[in-house]
Amino acid sequence: MNLPLSHPALSATDPELAALVGAEERLQADTLRLIPSENYVSQAVLEASGTVLQNKYSEGYAGRRYYEGQQNIDQVERLATARAKALFGVDHANVQPYSGSPANLAVYLAFAEPGDTVMGMALPMGGHLTHGWGVSATGKWFRGVQYGVRPDTGLIDFDEVRDLALKERPKLIFCGGTALPRTIDFAAFAEIARESGAVLVADVAHIAGLIAGGAHPSPVPHADVISTTTHKTLRGPRGAMLMSREEHAKAIDKAVFPGLQGGPHNQTTAAIAVALHEAAQPSFRDYAHAVVDNAKALAGALLARGFDLVSGGTDNHLILMDLTRKDVPGKVAAKALDRAGIVVNYNTVPYDPRKPFDPSGVRIGTPSLTSRGLATEHMPAVADWIDRGVTAARTGDEDALATIRAEVADLMAAFPAPGLSRD
Ligand SMILES: *Cc1c(COP(=O)(O)O)cnc(C)c1O
Repeated sequence: MNLPLSHPALSATDPELAALVGAEERLQADTLRLIPSENYVSQAVLEASGTVLQNKYSEGYAGRRYYEGQQNIDQVERLATARAKALFGVDHANVQPYSGSPANLAVYLAFAEPGDTVMGMALPMGGHLTHGWGVSATGKWFRGVQYGVRPDTGLIDFDEVRDLALKERPKLIFCGGTALPRTIDFAAFAEIARESGAVLVADVAHIAGLIAGGAHPSPVPHADVISTTTHKTLRGPRGAMLMSREEHAKAIDKAVFPGLQGGPHNQTTAAIAVALHEAAQPSFRDYAHAVVDNAKALAGALLARGFDLVSGGTDNHLILMDLTRKDVPGKVAAKALDRAGIVVNYNTVPYDPRKPFDPSGVRIGTPSLTSRGLATEHMPAVADWIDRGVTAARTGDEDALATIRAEVADLMAAFPAPGLSRD
């Protein structure tokens, strides 16, 4: 590897900014990145997102624009849309949402009026802000009612979901979340949505890549609308897509533009098209399954070391550790692990007695390390580093953290990251 990479024009124009980019390249190369919503995009995705497509305004949709000069842009968007439809097996795809949060807001705009009741999983239980949580616009402008997981199992209680839905009659039911280590039962949600007359939205932002690669069941045909980011397990640029059956296509398109957004980010659309092409290759199926295999192996190794995992393990790419019995707050552990070259985020666990800004848990995931080629045989070492790091966090042993950091950098050097290795 020859890091930092050369960005000649950027270095000449703005050396200060170029230095920051270089430092970030170094950091992403040297550290073990375990944040489950992050990944490494390919060199091809990076290149597509840095093209002159950036320079174009193209409000509207392919063939129906408010600007001329769309000969190429229309084809880029059509390609991205066709690839999304083929990969996920849906009638309709809109690739214009700027990110996951605005994509979800467009769903509200399409199917609900301000003040309507909407239902989603509570944020501290593993849901997302945009599923009707109070501090979010979706919780301020709509009446959010929220379900959770059972305290004894850490799993969604479908009796609770059904009772709440039948009592509250929400316009929308969101399933999916940000800290859910288990398979989502889309069919069970669909039945409840049908019984209660709600539109079911599967927000698969975290698991879209696993679905595309056949490592998690698909929300098709159960969900009315599928919302996803493109930058998590799907390994594309920062962006989002909304997918649906034909009957909802018009409502979704109108909500995204002109309802919520202006011109689409065409360089992002192009990079989404590239990522979808990559995700349609047989090697991406291997990747998706390897992400899950690694997460299961890591969960097993952590359990063997006495860590408490919410729901007792994982079915997907994500592990939620409850550090209460380790006697270390999540934030203290996360910050110590960061000093050890292991990047995680502190996170609430269901029924957390601590505050959201200082919770009991740490959330980890395997998408990034799998993109670098780490396999199940490396997971005992990863668990060992986490274990030693958490112990060092409790005892304040900075030397131990420095030792781990060197060991991590050593292994990472043997597994060059996509987009960061151009020798
Ligand atoms: C990440 C995520 C989002 C939001 O995506 P942003 O691109 O950060 O706005 C929405 N829903 C879920 C479930 C997510 O995990």
